[in-house]
Amino acid sequence: MKPLRKGVRLPDFKYRSLSGTQIHLPRPARFLTFFLKQSAVAPAIPCVHEGEAVFVGSKIAEASEWNSVPLHSSVSGKVTNIMEDRIVIESDEVDKLDPSIQARVEIPSEPDQLATLIHEAGVVDLGGKGHAIHVHLTEARAKKVETLILDGCESEPFLTADHVLMLNHPVEILKGAEILRIASGAERVVIAVEQNKLEALELLNSKNYNLKFERIKTAVLPVRYPQGSERALAESILGRPLKKGETALEAGILVESVASAFAVYEAVYLKKPLYERVMTVSGSSILEPKNLWARMGTQAADLIRACKGFMREPERVIFGGPMTGRSIAHLDEPVTKEVPGILAFSSELEMFGKEETCIRCGFCIDICPVSLVPEAIVKAIRQGQPDLAQTYEIDSCTECGLCAYICPSYIPMVDIIRKGKEVFKSEDSEREPVYAFSSRD
Ligand code: SF4
Ligand code: SF4
Repeated sequence: MKPLRKGVRLPDFKYRSLSGTQIHLPRPARFLTFFLKQSAVAPAIPCVHEGEAVFVGSKIAEASEWNSVPLHSSVSGKVTNIMEDRIVIESDEVDKLDPSIQARVEIPSEPDQLATLIHEAGVVDLGGKGHAIHVHLTEARAKKVETLILDGCESEPFLTADHVLMLNHPVEILKGAEILRIASGAERVVIAVEQNKLEALELLNSKNYNLKFERIKTAVLPVRYPQGSERALAESILGRPLKKGETALEAGILVESVASAFAVYEAVYLKKPLYERVMTVSGSSILEPKNLWARMGTQAADLIRACKGFMREPERVIFGGPMTGRSIAHLDEPVTKEVPGILAFSSELEMFGKEETCIRCGFCIDICPVSLVPEAIVKAIRQGQPDLAQTYEIDSCTECGLCAYICPSYIPMVDIIRKGKEVFKSEDSEREPVYAFSSRD
């Protein structure tokens, strides 16, 4: 592999949630809220009614279309409310498993069968935006991918969920990786891990010595952000930059995360749908940062309480990492499948200050790993000029957040670019200037 040359070594603060490698299991919250539209997939359709009893893992909503996945309850209890966009379930705190969850006697070997099982279990991409994995697998076979890269880099500061998952469940990740390899039609799997997780790498290698998955190898990469991005990983494998407009898939590479491989293992081997995942709760405001088995639908406040709450008033609470995550307005927001962590930052330790005018220093241009001109893209968005933003290749932006991180004027560039993409894509966009995108909301 030829690792990422651009990118930066960020202060990572990972030690805060790595005082032990344990994954804590908090008690279920009383009420859980399941949004029908989760992450990047189309909304699901409720298949339960109010008052109905459900178990842990019971299906509560069906996939509405190909690019959609079903939803499953993460507690046993009763459906109390079904609204246009969500289902609310009251936990009985008994945690009774749905009888359908049991070890599978025979593991299928046909790619289509495996993709169907993964779809039925509601598995999405847990290392990115939450796209449906079965769609990735179908596209990968159509493009005849050669290599599946499993991202174990977790290069965002503070997040350690993937790291502890690799330490606690290397066998399950390897088995999930082999399933993904067969289902995607890839010839080989490379599990990519950064140098600061060598003990996880050693565990994966030693477990694979016994499992004998000969097409699975590991690779060590330097600690650089955004080492774990799809583009950086693909370029590391290829040993060359992707061409303009070329996607990783077109170059014969599918990238999934180690967390997704674990979820795929559970779906195929245990018939267990995706209703929980490992999540890091950390940041300068959290009293006892931890990695938790977080049940989907749990409010941020309940997971923060499981880490003994706040020790400083939070200025900002984020779903995801500090570079690519999104701020949430209320602590009652429930977690969805694609959320790898909850971070709470106090104002005195906040990484970002009050926005000022661009001083044209060019730092954002120097740091962009995709060689864009972020300052010009932001200007085009704010002036409501989608064509100009396209000229500056807004769609090539991977939303890594480095330009915002480096900007001495604290311009929230990645927020502006992300929202600019949404506004320009929206059909009823009046192409108004996006001046409102000047604050970190
Ligand atoms: S880093 Fe910030 S201040 Fe410097 S050119 Fe880019 S947008 Fe302007
Ligand atoms: S423009 Fe996009 S890809 Fe480039 S540094 Fe900013 S967020 Fe990252």
